[in-house]
Amino acid sequence: MDQAALNFGEPEKGAGRVRVLLPLPLKGPLDYSLPEGMDVPPPGTLVRVPLSGRMAVGVVWPEKEAPRGKTLPLNKLKPVESCIDLPPVSTDLMKFVDWVASYSLSSQGAVLRMCLSVPAALGDVPVKTHYLKDHVPAGLRLTPARQAVLDSMPSDVPQTASVIADRAGVSAGVVQGLAKAGALKAVELSVDQPFSPPDLSIDGPNLSSEQAAAASIIRDQVWQGGFQPYLLDGITGSGKTEVYFEGLIEALKEPGTQVLVLVPEIALTAQWLKRFEARFGTRPVVWHSDIGLAQRRRAWRAVASGEARVVVGARSALFLPFKNLAFITVDEEHDPSFKQEEGVLYHARDMAIVRAKVADCPIVLASATPSLETLVNADDGKYRKLVLRERFGSAVLPDMQAVDMRTSAPAAGDWISPPLTKAMKDTLHAGEQVMLFLNRRGYAPLTLCRTCGHRIECPNCTAWLVEHRFKKELHCHQCGFMRPAPETCPECKSEDALVACGPGVERLFEEVTREFSDARIAVMTSDTMTNPRATAAMVEQIACGHLDIVIGTQIVTKGYHFPSLTLVGVIDADLGLRGGDLRAGERTYQQLVQVAGRAGRAERPGRVYLQTYEPEHPVVQALLTGDGETFMQAERQSRERYAMPPFGQLAALVLSGPVLTDVLEQGRRLAAAAPAIQGVQFMGPAHAPLSRIRGLHRVRMLVHSQKRTGLQRIMQSWLRAIPPVKGVKIKIDIDPYSFL
Ligand code: ADP
Ligand code: ZN
Ligand code: ZN
Repeated sequence: MDQAALNFGEPEKGAGRVRVLLPLPLKGPLDYSLPEGMDVPPPGTLVRVPLSGRMAVGVVWPEKEAPRGKTLPLNKLKPVESCIDLPPVSTDLMKFVDWVASYSLSSQGAVLRMCLSVPAALGDVPVKTHYLKDHVPAGLRLTPARQAVLDSMPSDVPQTASVIADRAGVSAGVVQGLAKAGALKAVELSVDQPFSPPDLSIDGPNLSSEQAAAASIIRDQVWQGGFQPYLLDGITGSGKTEVYFEGLIEALKEPGTQVLVLVPEIALTAQWLKRFEARFGTRPVVWHSDIGLAQRRRAWRAVASGEARVVVGARSALFLPFKNLAFITVDEEHDPSFKQEEGVLYHARDMAIVRAKVADCPIVLASATPSLETLVNADDGKYRKLVLRERFGSAVLPDMQAVDMRTSAPAAGDWISPPLTKAMKDTLHAGEQVMLFLNRRGYAPLTLCRTCGHRIECPNCTAWLVEHRFKKELHCHQCGFMRPAPETCPECKSEDALVACGPGVERLFEEVTREFSDARIAVMTSDTMTNPRATAAMVEQIACGHLDIVIGTQIVTKGYHFPSLTLVGVIDADLGLRGGDLRAGERTYQQLVQVAGRAGRAERPGRVYLQTYEPEHPVVQALLTGDGETFMQAERQSRERYAMPPFGQLAALVLSGPVLTDVLEQGRRLAAAAPAIQGVQFMGPAHAPLSRIRGLHRVRMLVHSQKRTGLQRIMQSWLRAIPPVKGVKIKIDIDPYSFL
């Protein structure tokens, strides 16, 4: 970990010397010399430099601080090899990297690595021969095939031989023959086709008056420019997307601007993209973990050159090299997936605010269930709040009821209560669709031996193996370990003694198939929706009414709009509340509102059944009464009372390593070295709830500060004082969301 450079001093400008930040977790930028004849490259220039025997690409970094330690004399420095022919990285992006590094206590290089995540984009883009019409040389024999090529070719758009041949219905050889004869001109062009710009002239829908009011405030702000966050707080189906689209359009009217829409990865569905395309006449540039390398390279370069006007992406899109960012939207801002839990740990919603601040542009955080963090900022006047209270058109919010599982228990071994079964029957009878929500993949979360009591666990983690019956396997959801499902107990070898405990979606599928033998049933999880095409096919099937019952995990909670879906059954409303951390109530509330929001999105009203053992729990009550505000107020008060985030601040340390005693010893040393500071409490070390993952032992420490500022500085000097122990890794998590 780096002590993210915060010591400013007199810059030491040596002639012929340049500082280069490499996308590696080093202490800071490195010094290089400039070869004879090379002009001093301005900050932001991408350069190729030697690094321990190989070439690496880095960025010429601004010299705002004096180099640490002693500087090498110029003649000891390795020279820059060359400058890369790409637009320089913007000053904004460099500021953003520095900011994220010092906030998250990561090295600048580790943050830069997220910006330069596509090495292929930094090299030469492959080219392919394209052809254009030229003058047909006098006397050239034009066969019918050749004539067909000339007739079908556009006059000014270069195309590849295969495209031309396809169009003319001839072989590619004919095209090449014509080129050889001089009738076509060959040009070498990049294989990356340009992205077409959004069409801003397409008419949008007529906005309702509350939509129009919100849109006009956002449009005015975008027109005026300048940093200003907005919270767009609107119930599910109120048309938040239509409203922020108006902000996008306003920003794009200015030539050369770029806009970014951040969405949780699972919300970026084909349905969403179609809707975008209908409004803008083209696809946006899409950025998430699942796009292929060629797409990635093309997108990165298009963002860097400014050609990409609209980027829609998951959290990592924040680190793209935008040239001229004019507007940001974070949709579903409350979503837990915005927190990055590996590598550099950051919260994309918070960093999006920083990105907007650096770019000096407006930002909209949209949600039906805003996070407490954002609500508090809005109450404090830092964010301006825009509210949409109505569902669009005739759609109304679904009717919610709780099923008390203590009095309406399902039959032994079943999971669906009698009232929910009845509601399902009625819904199917009316020709409408049902969704059952259970956030558990697989068949059962635990496999137990009835004879000896053995629980089948992952060999690498403190986690039970989850049975996946469709695949006849047991999986670890922590590390991905898999094994065939055993016939006999691995411990006592008893036959027929293994029993599945608890429900997963596959088990629910079994029950539904048995109870509703005529119904057409789909299971939507990350196990069944393995690629975009399979997903799109399934979604299409549901949307046009070819399926009756959808059983899904959280993957179904966002981004889908199924007009005939009128009943949602939540199988275990209490699931997210068990073993709860500080946000368990808030998160469960948000998730269940989202699931409920799938019901009754069109003309027909929806109903939601919440199966619960605690109908009087505040979360369940908030859902039933629809009074989320009171619930969030209560959450706010309890967090404020204990100075929990967003009032105070937390930082977690996760120590991990192969030898438990080493890990614990390092934790004890850290605890012993903890400074005594008023209002700051150091807790731990303690075994993490997930005490082993992938064979590494895990120990946690937690730092709690009553105040929201200054924690990084305290952490830095504390951690600097303790020398590292070989084999023990320390992960720093500022503003932790996971406590496992
Ligand atoms: P939210 O993002 O708030 O959940 P959406 O923007 O997805 O809401 O809108 C819900 C549905 O209502 C979508 O199908 C959308 O196309 C439709 N809709 C919203 N506003 C309008 C409008 N002004 N005119 C026509 N359709 C609208
Ligand atoms: Zn056994
Ligand atoms: Zn495991």
